[in-house]
Amino acid sequence: MKKYPMDNEIEISEGLHEECGVFGVYDFDYNDVTSTIYYGLFALQHRGQESCGIAVSDTKGPKGKVELYKDMGLVNEVFTPEKLERLHGNIGIGHVRYSTAGSSTRENAQPLVINYVKGTLALAHNGNLLNALELREELSYTGAIFQTTIDSEVIAYHIARERLNVSSVELAVKNAMKKIKGAYSLIIMSPRKLIGARDPFGFHPLCIGKRDNAYFLSSETCALDAVDAEFVRDVLPGEIVTITPDGIMSDLSMCQEKKAKCIFEYIYFARPDSNMDGISVYESRIMAGRILAKSYPVEADLVVGVPESGNAAALGYSMESGIPYGMAFVKNGYVGRTFIKPKQEQRETSVRIKLNVLAEVVRGKRIIMIDDSIVRGTTSERIVKMLKSAGATEVHVRISSPPFLNPCYYGTDIPSGEQLIAYNHTVEEIGDMIGADSLGYIDANRLSEMVHGNLDFCDACFTGNYPIEPPVIDIRGTQG
Ligand code: SF4
Repeated sequence: MKKYPMDNEIEISEGLHEECGVFGVYDFDYNDVTSTIYYGLFALQHRGQESCGIAVSDTKGPKGKVELYKDMGLVNEVFTPEKLERLHGNIGIGHVRYSTAGSSTRENAQPLVINYVKGTLALAHNGNLLNALELREELSYTGAIFQTTIDSEVIAYHIARERLNVSSVELAVKNAMKKIKGAYSLIIMSPRKLIGARDPFGFHPLCIGKRDNAYFLSSETCALDAVDAEFVRDVLPGEIVTITPDGIMSDLSMCQEKKAKCIFEYIYFARPDSNMDGISVYESRIMAGRILAKSYPVEADLVVGVPESGNAAALGYSMESGIPYGMAFVKNGYVGRTFIKPKQEQRETSVRIKLNVLAEVVRGKRIIMIDDSIVRGTTSERIVKMLKSAGATEVHVRISSPPFLNPCYYGTDIPSGEQLIAYNHTVEEIGDMIGADSLGYIDANRLSEMVHGNLDFCDACFTGNYPIEPPVIDIRGTQG
């Protein structure tokens, strides 16, 4: 759900947000996994900063006993050493969240743990369902009482209901997948199993890792690196993997030919040290920079990136153009939920709290500034102004994505219509509005080059080619 600044708060960036990051581990040697999940979530913090949670269970202990702690805030704010100390188990899942559907409250934090006649189920979800409202209504009529306003509870209830008719949780997951429509990467913990599932289009990533006698599921490979686990493989779009001490079982019966992996994961969301579906995020950003350099060359002295996702693209631009690459910005990465946001009248200084310019680097120079996207244009305008105030003689802006023209219904808070600067302005007009000396975006036709031409991806927010028909009513943020 898109949050709008209240009178006494201000968004310090118009940056887009991913809905969630998920992480799970099953240690067959019965080692405690709580701190491992903590470190995994820490590495996935960029995917969601509003709330987080960990649910763990002991597979030797009483069946279905799950310990859960979740709250609003960053991973290191929520999980103090005392809180971590209270959670014990050798199987567990974790979640970091930014809400795109369902309001931002503690109840809506994940993992969700539900108790039903067959036992206990814990679930962590990344994505957004398109038919959650219908499914919620259907469940309500059959007596379900919802504790949250998030899609993920609809999925959990469907799995629980299907479980009554089939012999295993994984079969229940499959039957639930036949009903839910949209984007989802799921990690489910049943008392003795860790299950991962990815929607048939594969919108968001999910991968498998291994360390000694423990198996992992994670949104991104960077979290596997953080816990010293080796990457095994990606979960395929539509695949259900079931991890038990007997090994990994794979069900491919929900897989389909058409895939639609979110291209914006490569452009912006994912960490550059992650690999998704065989493609390095870092290399895809280098390629984006190269494409920009070929499409929009300009005479300049220095190429700089707006951190974080603009940095690799800036390097790519520099490699292709031969113009030196430099670091013009210093970012304060410690802005958490407890940060006291400036008042409205201090809006101008707010970007500087998060980002400052190295005047020595840019003074007297013609700068090419690479950023990943422009949403409303307000942040770009402030950053260009900062560079010019610091003495840059020219600022040429290059954007490593095409212009945003359409909302996303698959888990990203890209707004609609008028709120997008490119919706009713030409590139030239946008360049003028943000104070750039020139502006160039990647052409949507060239996005496939970023991913070596071998990925079936979704680019609907740029092109309007929605892989799943958008809902008639806007589902984004209406469930809260
Ligand atoms: S519409 Fe855009 S942000 Fe949403 S899944 Fe597709 S590419 Fe990603």
